[in-house]
Amino acid sequence: MPGLVPGIHVLKTCKRHDVDGRDEPGHDGEWGGMTADNDAELIEAGRKLFAGDWRFAYAAPSIETLPPMGPLEIAFAGRSNVGKSSLINALTGRNALARTSHTPGRTQELIFFEGPPAGHLRLVDMPGYGYAQAPKSKVAAWTSLIHKFLLGRASLARVYVLIDSRHGLKEVDTDILKTLDKSAVSYQLVLTKTDQVKPAELAGCIETTRAALAKHPAAFPEVLVTSSRSGAGMPELRAAIMRLLGERRS
Ligand code: GDP
Repeated sequence: MPGLVPGIHVLKTCKRHDVDGRDEPGHDGEWGGMTADNDAELIEAGRKLFAGDWRFAYAAPSIETLPPMGPLEIAFAGRSNVGKSSLINALTGRNALARTSHTPGRTQELIFFEGPPAGHLRLVDMPGYGYAQAPKSKVAAWTSLIHKFLLGRASLARVYVLIDSRHGLKEVDTDILKTLDKSAVSYQLVLTKTDQVKPAELAGCIETTRAALAKHPAAFPEVLVTSSRSGAGMPELRAAIMRLLGERRS
């Protein structure tokens, strides 16, 4: 099933750059300049950056307590329990950098991680959304924090919106996509826990998700296919981040 090779999804979708510095989705034919060699270089550069020393840097419970802007930031958003902490741990090769939790909704802060200083990059673990059992006032506060951060953070270079491949896109995800459409941030969907679904089911989920993305022209049209458990899609996700860093610095 060639469409399920994660590298193909990542490496074909992150190349064009429009005049205001924002990445833009496009067609495969427009990516002409990239070669397998470039891809291999990015994968190796990504491996090196994420093999470095990644540490917890800040926790911000409110928009007023955000750390000063500095390095470029890449945020990970998604419903509670989507596998966000696990993805950040898998990306950085750590078991416990981000807390993995069996209690949905426990993470209520924006958590910032920093890597080796030369990487000039922060990862941001956003509060999980869509946790039905939490008190309404708390949900409203987290939702407001998420939306304000997505709309108002100049150093935010990309948002990866995680979707559980067993469940697909839900209404709360669509709310986040609508906010991202209004922001200047490039974003892409990432299917998680793909080790848990059969290939045919996964193919269906990819198709449905892609079709839904047609209503969101600001999003990359392709989805990333990952599993933190098997490591699938991690080298490609790291490479996509390296490409973004390269584009932003050039
Ligand atoms: P978060 O609330 O979004 O941070 O989600 P967590 O990373 O804490 O993961 C929630 C649950 O899903 C935990 O029980 C994880 O072990 C499990 N999980 C996360 N990623 C994967 C994956 O790729 N495969 C499988 N099978 N389980 C996963």
